[in-house]
Amino acid sequence: MTETIRFDDRPGEECGVVGIFAPSEDVASMAYFALFALQHRGQEAAGIAVCDGETARIRKDTGLVSQVFTPENLRSLRGRYAIGHTRYSTTGSSVLRNAQPFLIETRYGPLAISHNGNLVNTYALRRGLLQKGVGLLSSSDSEVITLMLAGAEGASWEERIRTTMPKWRGAYSLVILTREGVFAVRDPWGFRPLSVGRLKSGGHAAASESCALRTIGCEAIREVKPGEVIRLSNTALSVLQALPPVEPSALCTFEHIYFSRPDSIWDGRSVHHIRQRLGVELAREAPVEADVVIPVPDSSIPAAIGYARESGIPYNDGFIKNRYIGRTFIEPTDSLRKQGVALKFNVLEENLRDRRVVVIDDSIVRGNTSGPLLRLLREAGACEVHLRITCPPIVSPCHMGVDFGTCEELIAHHRTVEEICRHVGADTLHFLSLPSMMRAIGRATGYCNACYTGAYPLDVEPEQAKTGFENSIC
Ligand code: SF4
Repeated sequence: MTETIRFDDRPGEECGVVGIFAPSEDVASMAYFALFALQHRGQEAAGIAVCDGETARIRKDTGLVSQVFTPENLRSLRGRYAIGHTRYSTTGSSVLRNAQPFLIETRYGPLAISHNGNLVNTYALRRGLLQKGVGLLSSSDSEVITLMLAGAEGASWEERIRTTMPKWRGAYSLVILTREGVFAVRDPWGFRPLSVGRLKSGGHAAASESCALRTIGCEAIREVKPGEVIRLSNTALSVLQALPPVEPSALCTFEHIYFSRPDSIWDGRSVHHIRQRLGVELAREAPVEADVVIPVPDSSIPAAIGYARESGIPYNDGFIKNRYIGRTFIEPTDSLRKQGVALKFNVLEENLRDRRVVVIDDSIVRGNTSGPLLRLLREAGACEVHLRITCPPIVSPCHMGVDFGTCEELIAHHRTVEEICRHVGADTLHFLSLPSMMRAIGRATGYCNACYTGAYPLDVEPEQAKTGFENSIC
C-alpha cells in the first residue's frame, strides 16, 4: 500500500482546471501545456477529456502531468475542444477514483467536468441524488455536480447549467465539456479564480490562473465574473450572468498569500506585487534589528524582497529548495523521514553564520515545518532567528476547497502566538494583522477571511463543519 508523504506544512486540496475551444488546433496538447503551468495547484493526479462534437475521450491517472501524459496517449486524444484537471488529494487508494475530469454519458451526449473548489452543502445534495436512485461512486462533490447536471432539464447545456447553479452552495470554478462545446462557470461568491482568454491561433481558453492562459498564447485575458457562465467559441465569447454576484464577494485571500503563481493576475491584481506589499506591511508592523532577510522559498520570495526594501536590511538566500521533490509516493526510510524538511531544503551556511536572521514565510498551518526549518538555520550558525508570517494565524478550517485540516490540527487554533513562537524555536514571531494584509491586497472587503476569523461567508452544513474537510474530496 502506498501513502502520500507530506514534507511540508502547506495546505492541499487546491486544483487547477483548464478548458480549450480551438477546433483547428491540437487541443489535447494545448490542455497539457496549460496543466503544466497549473501543476503547483495539485500534483497527485491529472486528466484531459476531449470531444470532437460527437464522441468524448479521456485520459487520467495519478501522478504529475508529465507522468500521466506521453506523446502517444496525447495523440489518441483527438478533438475540437478539451478540458483538463490537475488535483491534490489525501489518500493513495482513492486518488484514481476521484481523479478528474469526471466523464459520463447522458441523454444529451457526453458530459465531462473539471472542478476547483468545494461545495458546503454536499451532504444534502448527495442525499437528494441517492433518494432519486442515482448511484454514486465517490464522496466527491464534483461527482455530485456532474450527476446533477446530467439529470437537469432544459433545452441546452447553458440552460441546464443556469437552472442547476442555484442548488450549489460554496466554491465552484468549473470547466464543462459537452457536445455543444466548453463552458466556464464561477460561483456567485467568486471564491476560486477562473479566467478566459482569446487564443492567438483562434478560439478561446479558460484556466484557473492567467499564467496558464499566457503559457498557451492567450491574449485579451479577463476573469470569469462571479455567477457567470461563459461559452467558449471561435468568435466572441457568449456570456451569461446566470446568478447575481453575491455582495460582498468572498474571494479567497489565500490565493494571494500562497496558492497562485506570482505571475498570475487575481482580482485584477498582480500576485507578485501583492506579495511584495505584504512584506512591506510586515516590515512596518513588526520591525526588528537584523543582518539579513531570507524567504522560505518559493512563495515567500516576493514578500522577503518587500520586507528587505522597506526595512533596509539586506535580502539574501538562506534556504535552497529542491524544486523537484514535490510529492512522492516513494516512502523514505525512517531515518530519512526524520530528516523530513532536509529532503526539501538545504541551507547556505555562509549567508547565515553569526547573522541575525529575519525569515519570511507565507503561513503556519499545522506548525510541523517551521521548527525543523528554524533548526536548520541555528545549525548553520544563525545567532538570532525572527520569524515573520505574511498572514494572520489560521484558526479555522476552510470548507471552500483548501485542506487546512480540522481545528485540532491547526496550531493557532489552540496555541497563542507566544506558545507557537516557543514551539517553533524562534526568538520572535509575528503574524501580519488582518487590516495590514488587506491593505497590501488593496481592498478592505470582498474577500473571504474565514480561516483567520472563523466568520464564514455562507452557512456550512453541520456535518461538514464537524468533520472539516476529511470527508470531502475536491
Ligand atoms: S477560509 Fe481561507 S482558504 Fe478558505 S476560502 Fe476563505 S480565505 Fe480561502
